[in-house]
Amino acid sequence: MRRIIVFIGAPGAGKGTQARLLQERAGIPQISTGDMFREMKTLDTPLAREVQEIMASGKLVSDDVTYRIVKERTSRDDCRDGYILDGYPRTSAQAEQLEELSKEQGMDVLAIEVDVPRGELMKRLTGRRSCPECGEIYNVYFKPPKKEGFCDLHPEVELQHRSDDREDKVATRLEVYDEQTKPLLEYYASSGRLEKIDGTGDVEAIYAGLSKLV
Ligand code: AMP
Repeated sequence: MRRIIVFIGAPGAGKGTQARLLQERAGIPQISTGDMFREMKTLDTPLAREVQEIMASGKLVSDDVTYRIVKERTSRDDCRDGYILDGYPRTSAQAEQLEELSKEQGMDVLAIEVDVPRGELMKRLTGRRSCPECGEIYNVYFKPPKKEGFCDLHPEVELQHRSDDREDKVATRLEVYDEQTKPLLEYYASSGRLEKIDGTGDVEAIYAGLSKLV
């Protein structure tokens, strides 16, 4: 079935990890708006500078800018048979825009909630570090690298701490999630298009739950 799989969950719930596994193992392209915006950082245009500022504050980029990049990316050939959206939609306006887009593309939408208790999210986010070379993700609390501050696979490369993973920014991102994104769960549930997975515990066990739904 041609379908758009949408991951909804608070920042740090592990949407990206599960979406990437699904891409690797089921061959469905995974599209992360957060990753696309981060890639824009290398550009020196007024829009890229604006996006960078908004991201650093933990707030959301405008619905129209976000929709434009989603529409452009998902109209490429590899998305023909369906795709995964990680981090989109995040507002009710975006959910409506996606409704239109999915109709144009002739696809159904299935939303999957990744549920993680709030206390754990904070540690996951503030402890997160990533390798700028290969994208490998570590966590100083749960999955420390062998040598503190450096990638196991690229020992010469220093791990990065996303500026929006710092404590005050994390608090803003969680607030934004509660206010703007959480209501989407009800939106998809009321039309029978919401499934839920438990996002705590082992990555493989979480994936096992996910793979039963897709
Ligand atoms: P993420 O990696 O998904 O946590 O996204 C990082 C940041 O990118 C967010 O805090 C927002 O500033 C921006 N962003 C990502 N996805 C969206 C979206 N769907 N709408 C608006 N802003 C977004």
